[in-house]
Amino acid sequence: MSEEANPFESLQSQIDAAAEHVDVDEDVIERLKHPERVLETNLTVEMDDGSLERFTAFRSQFNGDRGPYKGGIRYHPNVTRDEVKALSGWMTYKTAIVDIPLGGGKGGIIIDPAEYSESELERITRAFAKELTPMIGVDRDVPAPDVNTGQREMNWIKDTYETLENTTEPGVITGKAIDSGGSEGRVEATGRSTVIAAREAFDYLGEDIADATVAVQGYGNAGWIAAKLVEDLGATVVAVSDSSGGIYSEDGLDAREVKAFKNETGSITGYSEADEEISNDDLLTLDVDLLIPAALENAIDADLAEDVQADVISEAANGPITPAADEVLAAKDVVVIPDILANAGGVTVSYFEWVQNRQRFYWSEQRVNEELESIIVDSFDALTDAYEECDLENFRTAAYVVSVQRVADAFEQAGTFP
Ligand code: GLU
Repeated sequence: MSEEANPFESLQSQIDAAAEHVDVDEDVIERLKHPERVLETNLTVEMDDGSLERFTAFRSQFNGDRGPYKGGIRYHPNVTRDEVKALSGWMTYKTAIVDIPLGGGKGGIIIDPAEYSESELERITRAFAKELTPMIGVDRDVPAPDVNTGQREMNWIKDTYETLENTTEPGVITGKAIDSGGSEGRVEATGRSTVIAAREAFDYLGEDIADATVAVQGYGNAGWIAAKLVEDLGATVVAVSDSSGGIYSEDGLDAREVKAFKNETGSITGYSEADEEISNDDLLTLDVDLLIPAALENAIDADLAEDVQADVISEAANGPITPAADEVLAAKDVVVIPDILANAGGVTVSYFEWVQNRQRFYWSEQRVNEELESIIVDSFDALTDAYEECDLENFRTAAYVVSVQRVADAFEQAGTFP
């Protein structure tokens, strides 16, 4: 294994690669490579046994030139300041490539949530929400779920904010449960865009995704939904994995049955219908048509990329491929649909949720899915136009060419204050 890439350095090198092809001055590019501000805070929270425990948490507000900072909050033991900064930058270029009027932000707590009770997690989340309250707001910064957070945590943050501010403002956070002001289609949105983008890529290559074999790394919300939806398009999901390991079946697995098994037992390994159990690296290097990394950053480094056999990769996770691995994959003509487009369904439906919250008027699931479909298809077209016009090395640089230009244009049109 080569040395683990620093995600913030990965982000900056992705921007540098695009900078060569955009009409943006170097001093503005410098701005676009750094967060505007980062909150680092220590939460002191009472545990169920009465003891106190300290947790370090971050919120990075990367760029607000196109609208309120937007992005999730993750709970993970490996959260770092640089990781949160990188993720907030990726959010900035994600909201720009799908052209929704939002900026980029991200938060995280260094914690393994599996080690805490629900009431402890509620107190930890509310303590963080209290710290966030002065800096978030419906027109300021709008958090959302990310790794190991979901509707429950969003509802706690919303309630804490509304209590402290003495208001009702559901649009201060997205990814809420429907009864708390959430949107239809939000839970499935990340996996849905991963599959729509993959379908468009196969189409672009003159192929049909229905004929594809697929491997999915990660069986959390994004991964499992992507497996289910790609299966619905007629593709064959031959392998899936989670943190316990992977499973493979030459004739295909049933995504819904695997999910039911995981719900029952806590992991996918041990699923008796699979032909064999495989490792995470085996899964990533399988000879499949489509690979969907849906776990964490740096899943594919340069060494592993040498062995990747997939034709198309659609990134449901943020940052799963290191810049060095990108170069290896480009040289092998592997088509990579970058995270900032492939998983942008999550933030796009968050945007729909925010719009519905502001209007206090709610859409049907069908409307949400139709609007999402057209945004992802249009964004994929903008990406391939840039790819062809600028004769770029890969789709990732094409996505950054489009999105860096959009953020820079918004900044330059606004001018600088003071
Ligand atoms: N955490 C998701 C992402 O990385 C969603 C962010 C949001 O909905 O604001 O895109």
